[in-house]
Amino acid sequence: MSTLRFQALKETLDRKEIAVNEPARRSDIFGKNVFDKASMRQHLNKDAYKSVQDAINNGSKIDRSVADHVSTGMKEWAIQNGATHYTHWFQPLTGATAEKHDAFFELEMDGTVLEKFGGGQLVQQEPDASSFPNGGIRNTFEARGYTAWDPTSPAFIMGTTLCIPTVFVAYTGEALDYKTPLLRSLQAIDSAATDVCKYFDKNVTKTVATLGWEQEYFLIDSALADSRPDLQLAGRTLLGHSSAKGQQLDDHYFGAIPTRVLNFMRDMETECMLLGIPVKTRHNEVAPNQFELAPIFEEANLAVDHNSLLMDVMRKVAARHFFKVLFHEKPFAGVNGSGKHNNWSLATNTGVNLLSPGSTPMKNLQFLTFFVNTIKAVHDHEELIRATIASASNDHRLGANEAPPAIISVFIGSQLTNVLDELEKVTDGKLSPEEKTDLKLNVVGKIPEVILDNTDRNRTSPFAFTGNKFELRAVGSTANCANPMTVLNAIVAQQLIEFKAEVDALIKDKKLKKDEAIFNVLREYIKQSKKIRFEGDGYGEAWEKEAKKRGLSNNKTTPDALKAKVSKKSIKLFEDLNIMSKIESEARYEIEVEEYAMRIQIEGRILGDVARNHVIPTAVKYQNRLIENVVGLKEIYGKDFKKMAKEQMILIEEISEHIEKINKGITEMTDARKKANNAKDAEETAALYCDEVKPYFDEIRYHCDKLELLVDDEMWPLTKYRELLFTR
Ligand code: ADP
Ligand code: MG
Repeated sequence: MSTLRFQALKETLDRKEIAVNEPARRSDIFGKNVFDKASMRQHLNKDAYKSVQDAINNGSKIDRSVADHVSTGMKEWAIQNGATHYTHWFQPLTGATAEKHDAFFELEMDGTVLEKFGGGQLVQQEPDASSFPNGGIRNTFEARGYTAWDPTSPAFIMGTTLCIPTVFVAYTGEALDYKTPLLRSLQAIDSAATDVCKYFDKNVTKTVATLGWEQEYFLIDSALADSRPDLQLAGRTLLGHSSAKGQQLDDHYFGAIPTRVLNFMRDMETECMLLGIPVKTRHNEVAPNQFELAPIFEEANLAVDHNSLLMDVMRKVAARHFFKVLFHEKPFAGVNGSGKHNNWSLATNTGVNLLSPGSTPMKNLQFLTFFVNTIKAVHDHEELIRATIASASNDHRLGANEAPPAIISVFIGSQLTNVLDELEKVTDGKLSPEEKTDLKLNVVGKIPEVILDNTDRNRTSPFAFTGNKFELRAVGSTANCANPMTVLNAIVAQQLIEFKAEVDALIKDKKLKKDEAIFNVLREYIKQSKKIRFEGDGYGEAWEKEAKKRGLSNNKTTPDALKAKVSKKSIKLFEDLNIMSKIESEARYEIEVEEYAMRIQIEGRILGDVARNHVIPTAVKYQNRLIENVVGLKEIYGKDFKKMAKEQMILIEEISEHIEKINKGITEMTDARKKANNAKDAEETAALYCDEVKPYFDEIRYHCDKLELLVDDEMWPLTKYRELLFTR
């Protein structure tokens, strides 16, 4: 009997419920482990408090002497709340979070012992940059990097460690993390959007991007997950025959949450509350053992940090409940994969959501301005958006049944389509008083009702307008949201800058009134960006054809998609807005291309090992048993044995054929890997891994899965899909 698999199953079935300590009211503990406004007021003097608030709200610098005071207050608060250590907490380009703990504890020369945490330690630290991905920046410049405090995201306590969110940059200033470009993009969108807001409301002085992510994930018993080398090392199954029952009956979606899972969720959400992560919604997703979690939206930088933190918290709490969380975009073939929808909007300091229509025609014109400019930005940079969601793991999901295709398009619903159609007819130049009134009453004025009625929710669109925000649905479940957020902020910022210049020119040169100028520019944008709008079924083949006709990109693989990150247009976009220099853009491209190749390489090795060391030996063992049986029948029945042994003999041959194909596949795949490893540069290596190595995965898997169906269940060493997806 295959021991590990059956031991794991027994362990899973014997699980006892883990008790959860949940507060009666979440508001009682919300943000308890966060150095938030309330704790700051308690632990900082007036000047220090004001200084930190200024940094948060206006991006002003914090004076070094003030930093000393802040660090002392922060330390006192942290120690009171059980912290013994502190760390700079950052998001290097590995996709994981990084931390290195130091104790507050200090020993002075004279032997005195004290708890110390100075302003210097709060503001800056120097982790060794050479051990993190840097895309060649380290070779060209300095090996050293440093982390610097980001006061806009509050410090928090995780376990017994005070975590201080920081950026991570090279000594020469290049960003080595996700946060730095994100913060720069937030500055860009703030300045561009605030300028445009002034057309409508002079009181607007600040605009922030808002993000509400939705995190999908699978939850598998840890014993079962650990029993499979592929799940353990690659986070997805590289083989495994589909379960007879999968998601066909749609009986999991929004169903009753299983008790063990619910306990995990309650426990995890309690941790989230302590950390100030405003989680709100939880439910079963479409695939068996798949779930979703969504928070209340927040300012984008904070929301990005909270999503990264959440993923850490989920892993930790899951372990307590003997679960493993799978964040991979496609852990199981044949059932739905996981995404991370990014709901994005813009909000002003006056409390207005710029993608939500208002109560007056002027406010609706403001809504239309931001709405149309966003569509235009997506139109102009669709390939960059595709690039920003590209990864080896998301490739399995995009274009598969349940996920948006690799083609970027915008869905706005039929009602808003009608509004844009009307606006396309606006007169060129000055508008007559009648036309203005008509626009106000019948087009712009009707928008709030239109949106309320707009229940049409196209789930197949990668970028959909959903009433008061845009939802980028193509983001993968493992992704750091900073990447797509940086791009969205950047392209919309650039678009708004252009818009403002065009409107101002019409006002100045053509002597148009402000609203006339705005209508004129919007009309042109609507015309120019028409091809990005698509209201139909994004999953269908017809759309692929249509999109091609329209000239939209359809970059199906990561190596193809990533190229847009280093196109002249993208490099210029980031340079113009001071978000990333050319060197930074190129470094990121190189890191991602390399990561792609490494992921496929690792998967290829795992598949080779599992197929040769687990599958083939098991198949041979079973085949031997069949041979024994045939030999026995021959002994008893003499030459008549053939009639009785017929099926067994067919099986013996079939097994041999599958074994041969698997072996051949692995040998050829290994050769292809060698070729890819010796390619001239990282880009070519990635392309070869994609085009020459990866295709063997399906071929090898096919024969392994056939053997799974043939071989005695008791002998099969790998935990099966049925067991992974339905045991809890
Ligand atoms: P869905 O139907 O896709 O589940 P919901 O209406 O439940 O959508 O909202 C999904 C997410 O959108 C939530 O995480 C919510 O916080 C977020 N969201 C709502 N309004 C905004 C906004 N103005 N900006 C950013 N995110 C938002
Ligand atoms: Mg959604």
